[in-house]
Amino acid sequence: MPSSHSRSTLPTRSLRTHLLVAGSALVVGCASILGAGAAAAGTSQNGYPLITQAQTTQWAVNGVNFWTAPGKPTELLREFVTWFDANVEPITLGNGDDWSWAEPALVPPTNTAYSNHGSGTAVDLNLEIHGGQGFSGTFTPEQTGKIRAKLASMGGQIVWGGEWSNLPDDPHFEVR
Ligand SMILES: [Zn+2]
Repeated sequence: MPSSHSRSTLPTRSLRTHLLVAGSALVVGCASILGAGAAAAGTSQNGYPLITQAQTTQWAVNGVNFWTAPGKPTELLREFVTWFDANVEPITLGNGDDWSWAEPALVPPTNTAYSNHGSGTAVDLNLEIHGGQGFSGTFTPEQTGKIRAKLASMGGQIVWGGEWSNLPDDPHFEVR
């Protein structure tokens, strides 16, 4: 697949926002995008294979498009995002700030594993409101309680970046 196709169908505004927020991922992320084409060989941090955008499944919640790995990851993330939109806050808040698949990029702080966005097994919701890497506590206590209860009800199959102590990532949710 030509790399121009990847770029033209990416939500570029949200990608830019994410890269600005994820400062130390910027250089690696840009290099990866410029060299786009085939996905990097290997797996992302959670063990899922890195894929190209053409290998993702596209779906939408509340008019917002997402691209995720086919099968179970799409089922899980679609269920969670649909629930989040209806029960936590609309994902239409913010401007083009919801993110899913992206060209594989290493993630800080260790830069030894590819982001789970590269395998289409992670989403960012309302980045403009919830910051990104390094941000926690951007949800109200009520919202936090709801999110924790929902993730528990899904058997812990989705992990919330807001719970990470090392480098919290409030808008980020990924398949375990
Ligand atoms: Zn993310």
